[in-house]
Amino acid sequence: MRCSRAEELMSLSLDGEASPQELIRLEEHLGDCARCFQRWQSLRGVSALLGSSPMAEPAHSLVEAVMWRVEQTIHLLLVRARAAITHERLDLHRRRW
Ligand SMILES: [Zn+2]
Repeated sequence: MRCSRAEELMSLSLDGEASPQELIRLEEHLGDCARCFQRWQSLRGVSALLGSSPMAEPAHSLVEAVMWRVEQTIHLLLVRARAAITHERLDLHRRRW
C-alpha cells in the first residue's frame, strides 16, 4: 500500500468509516512503515487531546463516549474480519488437500 492511501485510511478509521478489510491493510502498513506509524500515533494523539480538553467540559464525556464507541466498533470489526480471513484460509487449505 502507498503511504498516501494509508493516510486516507487513517482518517477514515478515525471517523469510523473504514471497512474491516481496509483496517487490516492499514494495520499491516503501520507495522511495516515507521513514518505512517508515527503519523497514526500523532493523529490519535490529537483525537485524545480533543477528547480531554478542559475547555470542552460539558461535551467532554460525550466526545469520550463517542470515541470509546468508535474504538470498540473498530476492535470488533477487526476481530470479525480476522476470524473471517482465518476461516477462509482454513477452507482453502482443506480444499487444496
Ligand atoms: Zn507508509
